[in-house]
Amino acid sequence: MFLPELKNISLEGLSFLTKRQVSLLKKLDVENVYDLITFFPYRYEDRSVIESIETSFLQKRPVCIIATVVEHQSIFYNNTKHPKIIIQDSKMRASLVGFNRQFLFQQLKVGKKYWIYAEFSFKFNELQTSNFDFEEYNENQPPKNFGKIFPVYPLTEGLTLKEIRSIISKVISKYIDLIDDELPPYLIKAHNLFSKKEALINIHFPEDEKKLKKARLRLAFEELFAIQLAVLMKRKHQSNLLKNSRYTKETLLNKFLNSLPFQLTQSQNKALNEIISSMKSNIPLHRLLQGDVGSGKTVVAFAAMVFAAENGIQSAMIVPTEVLAYQHLSNFKKLAANLGIEIEVLTKSTPDKEREKIIESLSNGNLKIVIGTHSLIQPDVNFKNLGFIIFDEQHRFGVEQRILLAKKGDNPDILVMTATPIPRTLSLTLYGDLDISIIDEMPSGRKPIITKWFRKDKDYPQLLNFVRSEIEKGRQAYFVYPLIDESDRLEVENAIKNYEKLKNYFKDFKVGLLHGKINTEEKLKIMNDFKENKINILVSTSVIEVGIDVENATVMVIEGAERFGLSQLHQLRGRVGRGKEQSYCALVTNGDESEDTKKRMEIICKYNDGFKIAEEDLKLRGPGEILGVKQSGMPDLKILDYLINEKLLLVARKDVENILDFDPWLTKPVHRTLKEGIINFLPSDYLRSG
Ligand code: ADP
Ligand code: MG
Repeated sequence: MFLPELKNISLEGLSFLTKRQVSLLKKLDVENVYDLITFFPYRYEDRSVIESIETSFLQKRPVCIIATVVEHQSIFYNNTKHPKIIIQDSKMRASLVGFNRQFLFQQLKVGKKYWIYAEFSFKFNELQTSNFDFEEYNENQPPKNFGKIFPVYPLTEGLTLKEIRSIISKVISKYIDLIDDELPPYLIKAHNLFSKKEALINIHFPEDEKKLKKARLRLAFEELFAIQLAVLMKRKHQSNLLKNSRYTKETLLNKFLNSLPFQLTQSQNKALNEIISSMKSNIPLHRLLQGDVGSGKTVVAFAAMVFAAENGIQSAMIVPTEVLAYQHLSNFKKLAANLGIEIEVLTKSTPDKEREKIIESLSNGNLKIVIGTHSLIQPDVNFKNLGFIIFDEQHRFGVEQRILLAKKGDNPDILVMTATPIPRTLSLTLYGDLDISIIDEMPSGRKPIITKWFRKDKDYPQLLNFVRSEIEKGRQAYFVYPLIDESDRLEVENAIKNYEKLKNYFKDFKVGLLHGKINTEEKLKIMNDFKENKINILVSTSVIEVGIDVENATVMVIEGAERFGLSQLHQLRGRVGRGKEQSYCALVTNGDESEDTKKRMEIICKYNDGFKIAEEDLKLRGPGEILGVKQSGMPDLKILDYLINEKLLLVARKDVENILDFDPWLTKPVHRTLKEGIINFLPSDYLRSG
């Protein structure tokens, strides 16, 4: 039996659990035997070494000691008598204070020896602790809870650590011998890993530090291995599909490229060539185009869409916001003005009549290029020959949506574009099934953005003066206000309130307001006015986070900056610095910053490079949050911190590559466990195409 199969055995089926324990465990999201066995400790106490009261006091840390009870006393606190037990080790005395633990005298008897785990500190003229764990010392018998490394689990009220430990120890002894190892023996041997059984025992009850490490390593390795197996199998699967699209012409493509008002950067050219040559092959393209915000991904995508269109193949570009869809539309019209290629936008506010027309021309194949939001995924939107799909700002879309849109075509080419640079370990995990093209240079002539951190209470007037001076030079500015308390309404109110203030301050200039509750037509007009510098200052909620492109804007003021994550801050900042003028980003915080906020502000001020910021983000937040484990349809991961261990990840990936080269569909007996123990339990999305 493989570990995940133990999901089928519910807690109610365990005779050693009381009803009370079952309901308390459920509060901890432990529903079945699998959950129990994978309910890993979140930290460990080292009780394997016997130390002294003195060491604890001097080094200010908990220790494990053996001590004798020498006296029972009491203390009064809150009108109640509480037991106080005087103990002594080889050198010193200390007290154990048991608030409301009236039974303590019976459990800790004068004259007897006990194992004790506690941190002692100097209080009320003595060394004492009120937080301790103990067990009677018996020369002839090893202790139950001492003399080894000790697991500490998350708790819930009413369930003690002792109880959880005992429950887990019971469940492990009952099931451990039934659990099969999913990794083939030769792999375990090659890397000198723990077996599954050893790993599970030692992650809960390690004998020493070394074994604990080995247990974590084995479990982390198998998780990384499972992900790589999943993504590389998916890739194999995709490369076995054939597509219908035939590419023969490239006249318009060249015309498009030659008529651009700028030269593509080397990186852009390289990425475009990679995309075009995969489009020409008969295996569908599955590629991630990664490039920092402002690096010019859009034009690469446009070129590829032109190439598709002239070969009679339809493309759809899906973007996260309506404003972005229309911005792309107007840019495309400008850049492809004389090519005679029709293009339409489809969003939720496209009027019914127009929508009908667009849907009609998509299904009869007359319309070759469509840009849209989620509206493109709706069931009544069908294509004659959808051969090319682009997801812009991919992190906004779930796997499910990728699949739904892909189904509208016949093994279409899929290009995923993201401005959120993610470290290699994560991209191999999230996008391990995709080829990757990277744009790693900015169009020439751009100056790095200067970023500064302002306190609202102290430095705000100075900041406003600075903004004023930029606007007097003819530049433009954004003021962005954050989402407050998870409520759209408050976010809008916040922006409106501050809009009024800024309008008052910048009386001599035109100030515009943009937020999610403004209707699309109005929104587009405001964006357009801003683009044409009819609006000097644009006040906005975080809706402009994604994709907006106005070269003349040189100041980005991010208010309530403490409320944004690192990557969001970087994205917002990327709205400026798009022209030849020097640009600035001001981070405004409210004055009482947490350590975490300070760190983030410092990182953003220090680095302009999205990759560097992403790495720092990973260190600060850990991979779990960044991955959005659930949303990305990832397998159940328990030892996430290892995801940032690039070396181990690459070892696992290499192993998987070797295995799949030799046994692509895992049909050899030696790989039976991989198929039955790993592939069978992957989320179903994983092996589907898209
Ligand atoms: P992102 O990669 O963030 O989507 P965009 O595609 O919006 O970036 O491009 C940012 C700006 O840079 C746009 O105004 C675009 O026209 C311009 N741009 C793109 N490529 C080049 C280039 N090679 N030289 C100069 N400007 C460019
Ligand atoms: Mg973009």
